[in-house]
Amino acid sequence: MKIAFIGLGNMGGGMAANLVKAGHEVRAFDLSEDALAASSDNGCVAFTSAREACDGVDAIVSMLPNGEIVKAAYSNDVFGAAPAGAILLDCSTIDVASAREISAAAKARGYEMVDAPVSGGIAAANGGTLTFMVGGTEEGFKRAEPVLEAMSKAVIHAGGAGNGQAAKICNNMLLAIQMIGTCEAFSMAQKLGLDPQTFYDISSVSSGQCWSMTSYCPVPGVGPQSPADNDYEGGFATALMLKDLRLALEAADSAGADVVMGEKAAAIYEKFAEAGNGGRDFSAYFTELG
Ligand code: NAD
Repeated sequence: MKIAFIGLGNMGGGMAANLVKAGHEVRAFDLSEDALAASSDNGCVAFTSAREACDGVDAIVSMLPNGEIVKAAYSNDVFGAAPAGAILLDCSTIDVASAREISAAAKARGYEMVDAPVSGGIAAANGGTLTFMVGGTEEGFKRAEPVLEAMSKAVIHAGGAGNGQAAKICNNMLLAIQMIGTCEAFSMAQKLGLDPQTFYDISSVSSGQCWSMTSYCPVPGVGPQSPADNDYEGGFATALMLKDLRLALEAADSAGADVVMGEKAAAIYEKFAEAGNGGRDFSAYFTELG
């Protein structure tokens, strides 16, 4: 397939490279010259405008920082430049309302569009093992699937437009709450005189078991290798978790959903980020508890 890829940053760079490896012709555009040069090294064809990159393609994939940028990119550049039959896939994490707005605008212009945000960080983007949660019509999902295949370990249809984003922020809100709980439990166990490894051995096979404990333990030297073993570098930055929590609170507000724990998690990560920890992995909150 001929695919335009817009936004080749930390995530998009690896994703585009995997599309090339799968045999697709990838036409890349990014505002950053460095990102564009790196994409050429990975076998993409670099373009100096999104409109040129979209010329004659079968699909457009975007991986951009936020909803405003995604809206502008589609309205100003993609719509009109992309052929009528092209499928549009926005893989960025953005607010549900913007995702639905962009999808409706695409539909009005005759395009099929899906929102397809991801679970998994930079390592999964590079390794082609992301999970995609897709919002859009059955037809849109069917057409998006072969594009997403080369970048994924799982592709799941979440329902209509915006439901991919809804799944993503609900998942990440749960993850934030679970991680804070895991940090608190390990810290309290230690203060009560329990060895962290012993607590892990017990809780990982008991009812407190969760992903934040057994796949991503915030305690150095406990559980499988995680960012905690690398001084909380790499992994999922606190600033990005905070971004997702803010999107979750916005969505909760508009849907009238009660998210007491989500609000608390956002306040905790806000304070943690403001104290200079925005670039550290979100499991570094453990170090705050002493
Ligand atoms: P990034 O900042 O590394 O990359 C974004 C890229 O978009 C940059 O290269 C930037 O130059 C480019 N860009 C910005 N505006 C543009 C425009 N108008 N046209 C073309 N290019 C433009 O960010 P990232 O970490 O790759 O994240 C991208 C998206 O993926 C975000 O929505 C983020 O929330 C989501 N996400 C990130 C992670 C992660 O671990 N980094 C995990 C899951 C989801």
